[in-house]
Amino acid sequence: MVRYSVILLLLVSATTLSVSESAREGFSLANTSRLKPLEARLIQTIRPENCRSEHRIFTEKPHMAGSFRNYELAQHVAKEWKDYGLEDVELIEHPVYLPWPIRYEATLVGANEKLSLKEEPIPQDKDSYDNNVGIPYCAYSADVDVTAPVVYVNSGNPEDYDLLAKRGVDVRGKIALARYSVPYSYRGFKALTAQRRGVAALLLYSDPADDGYKKGDVYPWGPWGPESHLQRGGIVYDFNLPGDPRTPGWASVPGGRFLPAESAVSMPTVAAAPMSYKDARRILEKTTGPAVPSEWQGGLPFTYRLGPTSDKLHLVIQNDKKVRSIWNVVGRLRGTERPDEWVILGNHRDAWVFGGVDPSSGSATLMETARAFGELKRSGWKPRRTLVFASWDAEEFTLTGSTEWGELEAQRLKAGALAYLNVDSSSSGSSFTAAAVPALADFLRDVARDVPDPSGGSIYDAWLRKTKDAKDAKDAKDAKDAKQPMVTTRLGSGSDYTVFLNFLGVPVADITFDGPYGVYHSIYDSFTWVDRVGDPGYYYHAAMGRYWAVAALRLSECDYVPLDYAAYAQEVQRYLDETERAARRLRVDVDFGPLRDAAKVWEINARTALEVARKAVEDGDMARVERIHKGLMKVERALLDPDGLVGRPWFKHLIYAPRPTYKALVLPALTEAIEARDQSRAKLEVERLTRALKRAASVIEPGP
Ligand SMILES: [Zn+2]
Repeated sequence: MVRYSVILLLLVSATTLSVSESAREGFSLANTSRLKPLEARLIQTIRPENCRSEHRIFTEKPHMAGSFRNYELAQHVAKEWKDYGLEDVELIEHPVYLPWPIRYEATLVGANEKLSLKEEPIPQDKDSYDNNVGIPYCAYSADVDVTAPVVYVNSGNPEDYDLLAKRGVDVRGKIALARYSVPYSYRGFKALTAQRRGVAALLLYSDPADDGYKKGDVYPWGPWGPESHLQRGGIVYDFNLPGDPRTPGWASVPGGRFLPAESAVSMPTVAAAPMSYKDARRILEKTTGPAVPSEWQGGLPFTYRLGPTSDKLHLVIQNDKKVRSIWNVVGRLRGTERPDEWVILGNHRDAWVFGGVDPSSGSATLMETARAFGELKRSGWKPRRTLVFASWDAEEFTLTGSTEWGELEAQRLKAGALAYLNVDSSSSGSSFTAAAVPALADFLRDVARDVPDPSGGSIYDAWLRKTKDAKDAKDAKDAKDAKQPMVTTRLGSGSDYTVFLNFLGVPVADITFDGPYGVYHSIYDSFTWVDRVGDPGYYYHAAMGRYWAVAALRLSECDYVPLDYAAYAQEVQRYLDETERAARRLRVDVDFGPLRDAAKVWEINARTALEVARKAVEDGDMARVERIHKGLMKVERALLDPDGLVGRPWFKHLIYAPRPTYKALVLPALTEAIEARDQSRAKLEVERLTRALKRAASVIEPGP
């Protein structure tokens, strides 16, 4: 964060200076000082023990989207928020296509062995004895009833199938058995790949090398997945279209207009289901042929083989095709000066089962954060801008609740949203992790300086330490020399920020405390896992609440929104370098000149705008501050193109989009044209992107 000192400081002795005497980006010195006691108050109010008691409520029973329990929890949220003093609290109903499982059976025919497909209870965790955890499944799977040999396809990526083909293994009409990977890679991409390769069905299992005993102690002794744990999850192609597949680009409301779900670009035609390594082992033991390449060998104690199984598997997967109501809860603290400018804090409420970490750690944190703001309001404070608190439903299906609400409120959000701050899981460990648009990166670092970390010092200190010894960094030396904590600016998909960034052009941040976590989307992701393993004492839940609250407070109270588009423009220039190299490699002739010129003008205008704003805010020239503020609010929106990406027009952002793997695709429209070696398309995309960059530059022209 750019911290600058005002001229006043020159008049006092340097030794007496303290941090309190420099203004923050976005604030006058007076406003910076005004906020400090409010921030201290929020930090003090948010308590670990309150997070723990809320967490117990959210994780008490399974609460999948569409279930009665998740509706009850929506009512709980609404009631508490009203008690805290939030305003305009409402439950918003969206009827959406939300299939639930009816049947999932797998039998090895020759051995006449029915696989258990069930997660075993653990004496240390009473919740694991719950009989209402439902049939494990992959949401939006097609139905299947097939008897066929099984082929192990490693991670189920295109290169894996290519290797099998080269080795003469035909997967068509067979059942593919793919392992999940940790860190996470989107299972919908594995489904899409399986569908393209013509398999009869896809089984997705958790290998002990990825999230089980090969990693360390399994639950209840450690964070990793025990033998029978399995990972539920959606396989929907929401990298084409998130939200209710029947309403692409508009909201699903009772009595509204709906298209048939089956024809949506987000619907898989392949069947898929999750499996534990306990069950997958029975299949893998029966694979034949030569040993797999060493990278394919998993953690089970025998050699994995390239050929199909000697035995056939009878697999039945059946889901209902029902429309169900989901419930978002939205509450506000109305802004006194600028009620139409919104700062949004969101977390999803629905879980695959108990949702210990995902998402109830975040839900507990959201409740405590809302309570702290309620306390602040009781003391007489009111926000300048409106704070919007949101508890989304059906994130696990296809980012459904947030997408429908974003579509419903599109006009007001495009006019007045400052930023969306997403917390999905608040804490599976102690490593602070942030992803955000480049304009928010410095703001996020700045907030971290002023919020304590449970390990001592500030979150900034702990975050910087973690950045320096990042083991997964491409260049270990770069990491060690890092001068500031790392913010991931390449945004793909996978949580509720997608509608805000990709459809509405709202600056977004996604924050969490990360840690070793092998029970994702299983029944063992429970209250007890969090209480014993993930965050004993709930200190990181509270730290996240404090961080979230301070960030939201600053955005609601700033004089001009502290969005650094000079940093964004520099980042885009790096993307242009990369894309130009890709174009050269693929022999696509693209003139990057106009793009570079536009990005440079954008960078200069953005830098000048902030310089002018800093001076104007201290001079008390509030009319000028206001002009710059309004301009800054328009920049992210300027990066959208109404026509969207080719084949997936819902995605309108021209800098970021998800790939089918959920990895970030930068300059997506242009990159896709280049990767397709489509010369004329690439030319059009250069023009479209140049126009967007010019728009971004012109909305922040500081003027006279
Ligand atoms: Zn989640």
